[in-house]
Amino acid sequence: MVASIYETYQARTTASAAIHSRTQQVVPGGTSRQAGYWSPYPLTIDRGEGIYLWDIDGHRYLDLINNYTSMVHGHAYPPVLEATKQAIKHSTGWAAANKYQCSLAEQLVERVPATEQVRFTNSGTESAALSLNIARTVTGRNKLLMARYGYHGSLPEFETGSSGNEGPITYLAGFNNLEEFETILESHGHEIAAVFLEPVLGSGGVKTASKAFLLGVEKAARKAGALLVLDEVLTFRFAPGGSQTEQGLKPDLTMFGKLIGGGFPVGAVGGEKGLLSVFDPVDMRIFHTGTFNANPVTMAAGDVSVRELTAPRIAHMAKLCSKLRDGLTVLAADCGLPLSISHHESCLNLYFSDSAPESSTVREDQEIITRFHLAALNHGLFLAPRGMMALSTITTQEHIDEVLELTSLAMKDVATELQR
Ligand code: PMP
Repeated sequence: MVASIYETYQARTTASAAIHSRTQQVVPGGTSRQAGYWSPYPLTIDRGEGIYLWDIDGHRYLDLINNYTSMVHGHAYPPVLEATKQAIKHSTGWAAANKYQCSLAEQLVERVPATEQVRFTNSGTESAALSLNIARTVTGRNKLLMARYGYHGSLPEFETGSSGNEGPITYLAGFNNLEEFETILESHGHEIAAVFLEPVLGSGGVKTASKAFLLGVEKAARKAGALLVLDEVLTFRFAPGGSQTEQGLKPDLTMFGKLIGGGFPVGAVGGEKGLLSVFDPVDMRIFHTGTFNANPVTMAAGDVSVRELTAPRIAHMAKLCSKLRDGLTVLAADCGLPLSISHHESCLNLYFSDSAPESSTVREDQEIITRFHLAALNHGLFLAPRGMMALSTITTQEHIDEVLELTSLAMKDVATELQR
């Protein structure tokens, strides 16, 4: 009797299982992060270096998600290590300014034309909350409009979930559906403080938007007197100045996060000086503080991470990701598995179905993707449980070859199990 994918996972990861059952006693569900959990239990990772992670059972994994895009230069990236080592030596925090904040902010301002100033937070979620606060303060309105299956953070106002959260505060419209955005803005614009929008739907399943849609939403938001908050938390990895510079967008506010912290917790809101003057300590309209905002370690790491995310490296990741997509398509066909891949630059999302669904959270292939995720882990490939992959700048053609080899084994396991 051949062990199932599930049984193999359990047999390989007994140390992870043991720590999960301990953690479960003291942390609800054994996790503080839904995106870092999967059934029957997530791996406990011991360490990471370069493109690889090692779990506490001693298995090595090629990391294809890079902490959901934030480790854009891989794990323990030597320049980030060096910068943070130097920073940490001089303490990790004080209630005053540090020089790294200035340097990172200058880089963001230089790269992103619509960002004249930035305000730092500790997560993308916090930068969404802060953006909403700014929008409410300057418009005197309370509501927001965002894309169905969009993701801007773990807050009730932004949680669209699988069934939607359309309610008293949040209006939802279809991603890439300009007409729906326009209709809502025409009839409810007077109560909408801000339109939140990802240029590419990230957690929703790596969905690319048309330029006409993005520019159309910007125009409709402006006409309604609502702020356009462009969420570049993930998409900043797609171009030196983020997706907005590629698409010709000029948002009122830009949300940043992930890679701009060099692997440390971070978020930021960028915008014109006039708008961000709400925080001016001399003439304050919004009180905003945080013990760890712009802490020296995050700022030092982020400064290096952003500086080293150059245009050639961005192009390198995108080129390899296209090759990965093509290779995966061939493998699935060889195994007789249906596969469709949504893809943008250095990110992609797998669906074991003939076409990609509206979102990675509402899909007909849940059973297959769940099996594939565990099978991939069994063969040493680490990806998001929902099938998302995001490359890092240190990825090479040899790594892609290795990924394809391992994926082939995982897909064969899935195909065999489906035939049983
Ligand atoms: N916006 C987008 C587009 C994201 O992908 C995320 C994180 N997945 C967030 C906001 C929230 O960021 P954080 O997890 O740092 O709170």
